[in-house]
Amino acid sequence: MKLEIEDARVSYGEVEALRGVSLTVNAGEIVAVLGANGAGKSTLARAISGLVARRGRILADGEAIERLRAHQIVRRGIVQVPEGRHVFPGLTVRENLVLGHLSSRAPFAERLAAVCEMFPRLAERMAQRAGTLSGGEQQMLALGRALMAQPRLLILDEPSMGLAPALVKATFAALRAINATGVTILLIEQNVNLSLEVAHRAYVLVLGRVVHQGAAQELRADQGLQALYLGGSAL
Ligand code: ATP
Repeated sequence: MKLEIEDARVSYGEVEALRGVSLTVNAGEIVAVLGANGAGKSTLARAISGLVARRGRILADGEAIERLRAHQIVRRGIVQVPEGRHVFPGLTVRENLVLGHLSSRAPFAERLAAVCEMFPRLAERMAQRAGTLSGGEQQMLALGRALMAQPRLLILDEPSMGLAPALVKATFAALRAINATGVTILLIEQNVNLSLEVAHRAYVLVLGRVVHQGAAQELRADQGLQALYLGGSAL
């Protein structure tokens, strides 16, 4: 799915979290949105998903979605994995996956089979309560739950947060595999290095504005730019 955002603006009272953001994610791409704390990354994700009031234009495959409600946006194949994963700890793995499928028209058995193929670990733990899964398994479950809705655009908000390095690598490998099945990905991250390894292109947000965009490889090579906008600490 192609996503086009033109001049998106979001305010929380006096705070202008997005001050006119424009960006494009082409069908089949992985695009990273990078930026320090408070840059507006999560707000951008919420604006696309219809979880905050926003101004500006948001087009999904050319169709305006900025006036749609969150559940209508999910039905169009735009699915967000929220920051912190938010699996339902008291429910089993299977029940969490059932919830992910609620707003989808795709056959349940087919989606479940696709998720189990992508994450065999989940298949082995269907009856286990999500709260007792390891952090890495919960991340897989959050991704699996999103895949149950058969996304065409997957939005990930800080998938590396709180995970050990090996699990971060596994998560990013899963993103590549999901992308290889044709799912377009918007990746919101603070982990600059890994994001630029997996992404095709990237945008840098500072205080609610895009200050740079380009090919991921270019950004990786540009240490000066990284030091300037991304703190350089993640190098
Ligand atoms: P982080 O990586 O820390 O999550 P972020 O880049 O995702 O940062 P946002 O969470 O989008 O940034 O926040 C952007 C700005 O909007 C910040 O200044 C933040 O304090 C403010 N903000 C976010 N949510 C709210 C809210 N519900 N009410 C008021 N201000 C908010």
